[in-house]
Amino acid sequence: MRVVIVGTGVAGCVMARRLSRLDGLEVTCLERVSRDDHPDAGTGLNVGPNAVKAVKAIDPELAELITGSSYLWHNWRISLTDGSVLFDLPLVKVADGPGWRIRWSELYRVLREAAGDSVSYGCEITGIGRDPADPRKTTIAWSAGGKAQRLDGIDLLIAGDGRYSAVRRTISGEPDVRQTGVAIFRLLVPDTSGGLIDDYEQWFNGSSRLLSFRVPPGHIYVAGTFPIAPDEQIAESAKTPEALRAAYTPRNAPPSDQARWLIDTVCNNVADTHWARMQEHELLYRAADCNVLYLGDAAHGMVPTLGQGATQALEDAANAAALITQRYADGKRDAVDWLAEIEALRQARMRFVMEFSLEATDTLLEGADPVEGTRHKNEASFQAKLKALYRDVGLLRDQ
Ligand SMILES: Cc1cc2nc3c(=O)[nH]c(=O)nc-3n(C[C@H](O)[C@H](O)[C@H](O)COP(=O)(O)OP(=O)(O)OC[C@H]3O[C@@H](n4cnc5c(N)ncnc54)[C@H](O)[C@@H]3O)c2cc1C
Repeated sequence: MRVVIVGTGVAGCVMARRLSRLDGLEVTCLERVSRDDHPDAGTGLNVGPNAVKAVKAIDPELAELITGSSYLWHNWRISLTDGSVLFDLPLVKVADGPGWRIRWSELYRVLREAAGDSVSYGCEITGIGRDPADPRKTTIAWSAGGKAQRLDGIDLLIAGDGRYSAVRRTISGEPDVRQTGVAIFRLLVPDTSGGLIDDYEQWFNGSSRLLSFRVPPGHIYVAGTFPIAPDEQIAESAKTPEALRAAYTPRNAPPSDQARWLIDTVCNNVADTHWARMQEHELLYRAADCNVLYLGDAAHGMVPTLGQGATQALEDAANAAALITQRYADGKRDAVDWLAEIEALRQARMRFVMEFSLEATDTLLEGADPVEGTRHKNEASFQAKLKALYRDVGLLRDQ
């Protein structure tokens, strides 16, 4: 059987590592960038305990490698920028273990090393299509090092090529994108906080919110959000130090020591800040009429409020890799059946994760009341959903 994986970010690397170990399966992985190119190096990720559980279940060695480049995420605290604490949750109350705090570039480095030699880097895809000889199969053309190459008769094409997936656009059309009405910025700085910032925390001033945590080696990740009109770009005037200071400084009390350090850090580093708008796109795990599997951001774009993007890319890949490995070992080698099973396994779970992420965004929207909204997060109904999010990782609990 011939399998091609396009994109070795989070999901693609996990699939490449697992599938390239199956005897008799011909696996080709095509990655656009060079091995050490990490365009989003200026980002820290908090990866949910659900991904840790999923990766541990299928590949304990890989989980150890990621843990070695992370700090563990044990606690989630939400305060106002004046220091009043609204929510303080040890994750052990809602999860089977901690999450990870890691630099994006470190996660890629670990995963790409673990994926090994099955990956070809620096590949520019020049054509993707259905195979004329068998429309369930696909064909792909690419160039690498100035040499044109092509593979036909692909039994399973796996799209791990992220949010702007060329595979998904070409095979299944452009996904609908929905803007949420929230501007996000992110920044990675050396840790000069003197111990003020460590585990995962958020600070509200009205509906403007800062988020921060420490990642190895010796850095602090800071992200901020504030509401914008859903269909508008982020105004340049909102990105200035003066506007950012006003957005996060409490009106009627001095900022806490943590908030003061964060506000100063954000204002002093505007030139290195990356900006985006919060959005989601529709869910799709497989193509309607040919053997193409979408994983991670290629399958679903969700709002980042619960830190589930890379988390779900890992959960998707762990589940898909485990299922394919099992069916392959059982001699069941029809990719159509694998795709139907993966979709059945993941679809309802992912709808829940997307809807819950959107629900948890309530406090970031225009006019939101963060005190009331965060109080709700202390209630049993919200924490029951957190338990489902962090514990119910799918197929793996049955293994
Ligand atoms: C600012 C920011 C903060 C985030 N914070 C968090 C967080 O705290 N927690 C969390 O869980 N998630 C977070 N996310 C989301 C998370 O990073 C993504 O959801 C995750 O990386 C998706 O993994 P993936 O494997 O689907 O795709 P990616 O990791 O994006 O990988 C896609 C890969 O495909 C390659 N590629 C793309 N096009 C092609 C092509 N045509 N040919 C070949 N290769 C191609 C790319 O080079 C890349 O290597 C954050 C995202 C952003 C932008």
